[in-house]
Amino acid sequence: MKSTEIRQKFLDFFASKNHQVVSSSSLIPGNDPTIMFTVAGMVQFKDCFLGFDKRSYTRAATSQKCLRAGGKHNDLENVGYTARHHTFFEMLGNFSFGDYFKRDAITFAWEFLTGDQWLQLPKDKLMVTVYASDDEAYDIWHKEMGVPADKIVRIGDNKGAPYASDNFWTMGDTGPCGPCTEIFFDHGPSVAGGPPGSPDEDGDRYMEIWNNVFMQFNRDETGTLHPLPKPSVDTGMGLERLSTVLQGVKSNYETDILAGLVKAAARETSVAYSQDVPSLKVIADHIRACAFLVADGVLPSNEGRGYVLRRIVRRAVRHGYKLGQKGVFFHKLVADLAVLMGDAYPQLREGQARIEDALRLEEEQFARTLDIGMALLEKSLEGGKKVLDGKTAFTLHSTYGFPIDLTADICRERELELDMAGYERELKEEQERGRAAGTFKMTAGLAYDGAASCFHGYSESSRDATVIALYKGS
Ligand code: ATP
Ligand code: MG
Ligand code: MG
Ligand code: MG
Repeated sequence: MKSTEIRQKFLDFFASKNHQVVSSSSLIPGNDPTIMFTVAGMVQFKDCFLGFDKRSYTRAATSQKCLRAGGKHNDLENVGYTARHHTFFEMLGNFSFGDYFKRDAITFAWEFLTGDQWLQLPKDKLMVTVYASDDEAYDIWHKEMGVPADKIVRIGDNKGAPYASDNFWTMGDTGPCGPCTEIFFDHGPSVAGGPPGSPDEDGDRYMEIWNNVFMQFNRDETGTLHPLPKPSVDTGMGLERLSTVLQGVKSNYETDILAGLVKAAARETSVAYSQDVPSLKVIADHIRACAFLVADGVLPSNEGRGYVLRRIVRRAVRHGYKLGQKGVFFHKLVADLAVLMGDAYPQLREGQARIEDALRLEEEQFARTLDIGMALLEKSLEGGKKVLDGKTAFTLHSTYGFPIDLTADICRERELELDMAGYERELKEEQERGRAAGTFKMTAGLAYDGAASCFHGYSESSRDATVIALYKGS
């Protein structure tokens, strides 16, 4: 089943359960300063959960464009390393605004995944987790859906726990949240990784496909939880992961849309198509994030969302360079993307030329300094050094337009240590020099992209503060 049919089937299923099918909202959250990007299907419905927004429906279903490349939900560093994470992905979701709660949510999910009329997934390949103290959800799974006890795992909210699992979902630092129950698909022993809640759960064997959140609270700035006006439901299932399961493959990058983009990346970098070349997968992932960001009105810049976009484009370009492609190539994948996803997202076709232009410009700009930057990097490592010093990292950043996370990406790939403390020290000194000179615009030697604003570290919102925070995983 193609991704397009799977998306449609999901929406049809929930329409048959009286849900209003609602279009995806933009990657840029409307009127919400608490998050940079739409990270989940619930974002456009935040105010419905909080009780501020009353709609003509109390049940909705969407296929939502999501981006997880900054802030609390950030999967940029996972791309190229796992089979299941993207920066841009589509989240299938069903929502109840004070309408149904746990029983119906679980019943719908199970019927859609395993029902004769629907996806017919083998039940013995599915596992579920519930919030540690949620006996109600446990009983619905066990007694009503008939899931055996050895396929249900109780998981807490991960405070101080050794594992990555977390069955308490939050949108960001503040906002609607609540305990959740998640459904996992077992790809079998040929794939590394343990079941949810085990020490090696982060492998790709047990792939999380669907999260059902029982929205019950609003978290405020102090961390205090306030009950929502009405218990609600918010679910999210990655379309790419569901496609992986239904198309009988083991990695999202082997599914129809992404495999098409991996092939396009291979063509444009003149390497043979392979699922074993991480850079091809990174490029395939990044073209979606970049094209959709431009389609939704973001342009590469040195601050905020624009800087996230700039960083993703430059990472993709660097991966192309690594494969031997020294010319501009990345923007050429927009045409492939428009073919693969243009029916579902006409904005890709309508905006194709504009998206290509924006990406090409950014590529051209970075192409001017990438080569010399790489030469500087190699030189600093001469003699088999295993640490990239902070001064070089800073020069790469300030003079050659290497965002620090791009340099970190190179170091990780080559198993080099990056002297982050040294980098931050250099950055701070530069800021102080700038301040002493009484100017907020750095020019000489720093204008890698021609913009006078290439280096700012003066405010909390500056790109460097943002990137350091992102790098530290906060
Ligand atoms: P994981 O533990 O695999 O990182 P998550 O717990 O962070 O996933 P949720 O926040 O629960 O994910 O999001 C709901 C669903 O969205 C997930 O079950 C998964 O199917 C999908 N999803 C989440 N993050 C990604 C991603 N980076 N790329 C593709 N799909 C994703
Ligand atoms: Mg995650
Ligand atoms: Mg998870
Ligand atoms: Mg989850």
